[in-house]
Amino acid sequence: MALDAAKKMKNRFADLVDFEEFRLDSDQGKAFKVTTSTNVFVNDQLLPLQVWLDQDKFENHIQELIGEDSKIERDVIKHEGYDVVIVGGGPAGLTAGIYCARARLRAILLEGSTLGGQVVTTDNIENYPGLMNISGVKLIADMEKQARHFGLEIQVSKKVHKMDLNQSLKTIYAGGDIYSCRAVILACGLSRSELGLPGEVEFSGKGVSYCAICDANFFGEKRVAVVGGGDTAIEDAIYLSKFASQVFVIHRRDELRATKILQEAALCNNKIEILWSHVPQEIVGNSTVEGINIKNLKTGNSRKIELEGVFIAVGSHPHTEFLEELGVLDEQGYVIVDDKMSTSIPGVFSAGDIRVSPLKQVATAVGDGAIAAISAERYIAEKNK
Ligand code: NAP
Repeated sequence: MALDAAKKMKNRFADLVDFEEFRLDSDQGKAFKVTTSTNVFVNDQLLPLQVWLDQDKFENHIQELIGEDSKIERDVIKHEGYDVVIVGGGPAGLTAGIYCARARLRAILLEGSTLGGQVVTTDNIENYPGLMNISGVKLIADMEKQARHFGLEIQVSKKVHKMDLNQSLKTIYAGGDIYSCRAVILACGLSRSELGLPGEVEFSGKGVSYCAICDANFFGEKRVAVVGGGDTAIEDAIYLSKFASQVFVIHRRDELRATKILQEAALCNNKIEILWSHVPQEIVGNSTVEGINIKNLKTGNSRKIELEGVFIAVGSHPHTEFLEELGVLDEQGYVIVDDKMSTSIPGVFSAGDIRVSPLKQVATAVGDGAIAAISAERYIAEKNK
C-alpha cells in the first residue's frame, strides 16, 4: 500500500524533482543501505515516512525544493451531497462506515495516509472477542472489505487540515479537495510519539523504526532494542524476537506497564533482555545505526550497546492538531464526547482512540464507531423533520 502511494507521488512530481521510490529488498535498497520497507528519496535525500505519506506535508516539501517561482498545481475538487464524512480509517472509522452505509446514509471515509492506524502495527490481536488471534493487517483488510461491500466510499492519502463545522452544512478540507456534509465523525486515532533523542531523526529509516511489524524482517539475526515498557513495546519485542538474534527492552522503571500476559511472554523469552531502570541517551552510527548509548538510572553509569536497530514505543499522541481552534479538546488534546459520542458541536461526533476514554483497544474503538454512526443517523433524521 505504501509503495502504491509512493508511485502515485512519483507520477505527480517526477518532472519537478529527482524522485526514487523502492523497496528495501530491491537493488536500490541494498545500494542505499536503508532499513525501512518502502523508501522515498527526493533529490537524493531520504524522506521520513511521516513526510511522504502525508500529502500536504509532502507537497509543502516539494514546494520548498522547487522554490516559490514555480507553484505546484493543486486542483481543487468539490465533493458535495454527503450525509456523513468520517475522518480516519482505523477500526473506529471503518466500523462507523459500516453502520452508516447499512443505515443507507451517503457516507465517505477520508484517511490521511493508509487504512488501519495503530492496529496494523500489531502482529497478533488475541483480545478481540470471537477471533482467537488475528493480525492487525488482516482485521483491517476484512473491515475494509465489509465496509465497501455495504457501499462506504473510502479515500486514502486525504489528510484533513481544516474544517468549518459550526453551520448545519459542514465543510471539510482534505488533501486539496473540499467535501460538504451534514454530520462528521472524527476517528483519526493516534500516532506513535518520538523520543527526541540525538540520532533519532538522522537514522530514521536507517535502523530507527516506529513499526516493528513493518520493519522486523530486515533485522534477521541482528541485535535490536525496543524503547518503552507498555503493551506496544512488549508486543514489539516479542514480534522482533522471531527475527532478531537478541532484543533489548530499554525501560526507565523497574516495573513494566504492559498487560501481565505480555509481561509473562517476554520474561520467559530467552532472546529478550529487559534493561530495567535504563534510559537511552543517543543513537549512534555512520550510514546506519551501530549502537545506542544508555544510562542506568540507579547507578548513574552509562554504556554503549552495539546493535543495528532501535524501535521506539514510548506511547502515542492524538491526531487532533487540526481541531485545536474548535474547543472540543481536553488538556491532553483528546476529544471530549458524551455517551452518544457527541461533541459540543451539533452534528460532530467522535470515536476511538482520539476521544477521552479509560481504555484504548480495538474492542472499544468499534463500539464507539457504532454508537457515533447511529447518533449521526439520528441527528440527520431529526434535522429532516
Ligand atoms: P503506553 O501504555 O503509554 O506506554 C508507553 C511506555 O513508554 C511506558 O512504559 C512509558 O514508561 C514509556 N515512556 C514514555 N515516555 C518515555 C520517555 N520519554 N523515555 C522512556 N520511556 C518512555 O503506550 P503504548 O504501549 O503505545 O500503549 C498505548 C495504549 O494502547 C494503551 O492503552 C495500551 O494498553 C494499548 N495497546 C493495547 C494493545 C493490546 O491490547 N494488544 C497493544 C498495544 C497497545 P512508564 O511506564 O515509566 O510511564
